[in-house]
Amino acid sequence: ADTPIRRALVSVTDKTGVVDFVKALEDEFGVEVISTGGTARVLEEAGVHVVPIEQYTGFPEMMDGRVKTLHPKVHGGLLARRDNPAHMAEAAEHGIGMIDLVCVNLYEFEKTVSKPDVTFDDAIEHIDIGGPSMLRSAAKNAASVTVVSDPADYDEVLEEMRANDGCTSLELRRYLQLKVYETTANYDAAIAMWLADRYDEDFADDECDDAPAMPEELGFYLEKVDDLRYGENPQQTAAVYRFADEMADACSSANPLVGAEQLQGKPLSYNNYLDADAAWNLVREFDGPACVILKHQNPCGSAVAEDITTAYDRAFACDPKSAFGGIIACNREVPFELVEHAFDENGQFVEVIIAPSYTPEAIERMAKRPNLRVLATGGAEGHAEFELRSIDGGILVQNVDTVAEDPETFTCPTERKPTPEEMDELMFAWRVCKGVKSNAILVSKDKSGIGMGPGQPNRVDSALLACQRADEACERMGMEKGGYACASDAFFPFRDNVDVLAEHGVTCIIQPGGSKRDDESIEACNEHGIAMVFTGNRHFRH
Ligand code: 5GP
Repeated sequence: ADTPIRRALVSVTDKTGVVDFVKALEDEFGVEVISTGGTARVLEEAGVHVVPIEQYTGFPEMMDGRVKTLHPKVHGGLLARRDNPAHMAEAAEHGIGMIDLVCVNLYEFEKTVSKPDVTFDDAIEHIDIGGPSMLRSAAKNAASVTVVSDPADYDEVLEEMRANDGCTSLELRRYLQLKVYETTANYDAAIAMWLADRYDEDFADDECDDAPAMPEELGFYLEKVDDLRYGENPQQTAAVYRFADEMADACSSANPLVGAEQLQGKPLSYNNYLDADAAWNLVREFDGPACVILKHQNPCGSAVAEDITTAYDRAFACDPKSAFGGIIACNREVPFELVEHAFDENGQFVEVIIAPSYTPEAIERMAKRPNLRVLATGGAEGHAEFELRSIDGGILVQNVDTVAEDPETFTCPTERKPTPEEMDELMFAWRVCKGVKSNAILVSKDKSGIGMGPGQPNRVDSALLACQRADEACERMGMEKGGYACASDAFFPFRDNVDVLAEHGVTCIIQPGGSKRDDESIEACNEHGIAMVFTGNRHFRH
């Protein structure tokens, strides 16, 4: 049987109607009302007297209100089953009185985070803990407890009490019970969504803990290495400089290009320097024999193979048209055959060739093209710490993107996992992709970068371009199309990328992940049976 409401706990952020409600509870039904700080104040000011929560629990409100009502005297009083003698005995033993009605509405989390200038700490402080706890305790015990979470329900509660000698009906309590769990579910969902958004944004801004700090002042000294014939275009004069003091340690001595020995050929042009630097920095990333053919800052051909000549052949085959006038970079000593393939078989016009060293026969062969610039780096020793780029009136400095990437830390969110062969291919594509201008998509097959989509202002155009090039390469080489691996230098903002890649026969993908819409891309992969790997690091190259 329903029993009359004798004790109530009122703790509300939205104070609408609370004075009249509590007044009616006290005056009409003689209910004892307990209340928390701010609520009690509003009631007292309206001449309604209540029992302060700290008096009831014997504990002060503390920790800036984080702990107000979280007490066994509150939760025991809400959760005790009135029809269970053991519960009632325990309550009596510990001096816990029954609380028959809870009137709570919550800190306004959503309103707080919708403010444009909200801070993270402020948002966290507006996560209500005690309120939902009381609501959930009371709602669990709706068999006996009336839980009012919405000022719109005050009147109905009072009307029922008036009609039933201070009792509410089970029907009303069940309605209020359901409303509570809907309210708290939405409340927690709002918190979760807001946090996910924040952490998602933050992902892109993830700072690297162990990155070297940027110097307060650079104050470096440059000495001229050479005047250049002209700059990027003939109407621009230009020169190349090298760091001549301690910045040399941080910036250039580790980069062997300026220090590379030029064995023969015309002086390097401004663009030669840029492209040779990019090509060398990319090719030296590979352990196995690797060759990169680079044009206008992009690796239009790339391959890893069992020997360096094969690697060159495959890199050239990726895109012979673009290779014309390109730069060849190799990470192994260049033998005679490689030069012969380039000159005789492929008739490749080469601007620059850069490699650790050359065999005497190769050197002899190259001498027959006296204009060809041949650079010997002597090997790859470490990386520069900083890199500098100029903007009008200043320079931008950043530490070089040499993040150590351990495939053990990569994750695979798709139903299908990459096979070991696919993983191997993905690692190749991922390395090459790092050297492609953003938005960068790299499609590979048999450790050849046959499809490159560089520099498009949207990722899906890069994807399409990469796929088309890969298909063309397969046609040219009489290879079967499809069965491709794909790397993307940053996350897919939409699933359309995956759809385009799938249509062209990509079976596995590597990308950083971290988009708000990763789920959509994962779903697309699952639909297409694609295995996708998340690396956690993006490699923009603007
Ligand atoms: P008042 O304005 O009465 O000081 O606070 C009312 C608000 O405090 C209500 O929204 C209620 O949900 C919330 N509240 C009640 N008890 C606790 C508690 O122990 N911890 C937290 N964080 N909030 C509580």
